[in-house]
Amino acid sequence: LLEVSGIRKTFRVGKNRLTALDGVDLRIGRGETVGLVGESGCGKSTLARVLMLLERPDEGTVRFAGQDPFSLRGKELLAWRRRVQMVFQDPFASLNARMTAAELIGEPWRTHRDVVPTAAERAARTRELLDLVGLRASDAERYPNEFSGGQRQRLGIARALALNPDLIICDEPVSALDLSVQAQVLNLLAELQQRLGVSYLFISHDLSVVRHVADRVSVMYLGKVIEQGPAAAVFDHPVHPYTAALMSAAP
Ligand code: ATP
Ligand code: MG
Repeated sequence: LLEVSGIRKTFRVGKNRLTALDGVDLRIGRGETVGLVGESGCGKSTLARVLMLLERPDEGTVRFAGQDPFSLRGKELLAWRRRVQMVFQDPFASLNARMTAAELIGEPWRTHRDVVPTAAERAARTRELLDLVGLRASDAERYPNEFSGGQRQRLGIARALALNPDLIICDEPVSALDLSVQAQVLNLLAELQQRLGVSYLFISHDLSVVRHVADRVSVMYLGKVIEQGPAAAVFDHPVHPYTAALMSAAP
């Protein structure tokens, strides 16, 4: 589904250039969950931003379903944008506090008008999405601050699903939640994958979480993917010394 190769991204910091991504290769198959781990500042979120087309890489290629999204314009680009969505660590920061749950879920349809064309369909689809993520129809008129952290993340997930994406990038999706709520949200993500066949790029600093959800794992260090493979192999038999150190440092 997604193939990223040789991605380099530098930022200008004062007079210097900081290399955030230094030749990253990554592949995500359809319906697969790829875990992306690595210490703070290694470039995980920058990679996510490149995949959302929020940052243009200096070098390297992104291919998604056979297309280079950076070469697309107009309608093609709009169609492409539907296909990759993101769920953030802090739904409070990413959800407009003045919009109701129904408005938040439906917001992407304003840009992508043909997805759910009529008001009646939009209302029905909103109810369906609320149900899909375990919220109630009566939650539609509530505001983000009236939800618990876990419910808010469910809302963020419903919104990410509104355009039927193929890939959802989850950047620390459960880090702000209590352990028991983490488990609920992770189970929800797994269930949605079963039902919808969606793929995830699952970014987390929490190795036990990644081990639980990921089919394959990529380990990043200083802007590079230094190790990747099936989750069990990477966790139980890390090849790279940094991976081994990361594992042994984990609680
Ligand atoms: P964390 O686990 O803390 O979220 P991360 O792996 O997501 O870390 P990134 O946010 O991708 O790390 O940052 C990678 C590097 O790029 C960091 O050194 C960061 O300071 C730098 N960086 C990211 N965005 C910018 C920017 N817009 N301008 C300058 N430097 C940036
Ligand atoms: Mg980050």
